[in-house]
Amino acid sequence: MKNYRLDKGSKAHFSSLEELAKGFNVKIVPKQTKDKLKLAKQRVNFVKHCKHCGIVMTYLSDSNLVVCKNSKCKGEPHELKDREGNVIDVIFKPVFRMLDDEGTMIAANLFAEV
Ligand SMILES: [Zn+2]
Repeated sequence: MKNYRLDKGSKAHFSSLEELAKGFNVKIVPKQTKDKLKLAKQRVNFVKHCKHCGIVMTYLSDSNLVVCKNSKCKGEPHELKDREGNVIDVIFKPVFRMLDDEGTMIAANLFAEV
């Protein structure tokens, strides 16, 4: 039982389970399935396909962004109009999706390398 306790003079303070695991040198296991095929399916379902070119989008690790990495994809068309409402020009915006806190947590688990 002595191995599981901190030293007598230690003033370590842990405010989360992740910190506690780090303090005790316990490896954090990501919450993902061990079935490789199922994992690949889950990843594709999570990032989805680009609306404009149809290629599977890519999650940028350690971020909250899912982007289209196809260099030939023009992106999302956006019409520029003048005051009368006539279309002057069409510009293309890059295709990306921002994840919220929950989505980022799911992505970190799904795309973690075990
Ligand atoms: Zn695209």
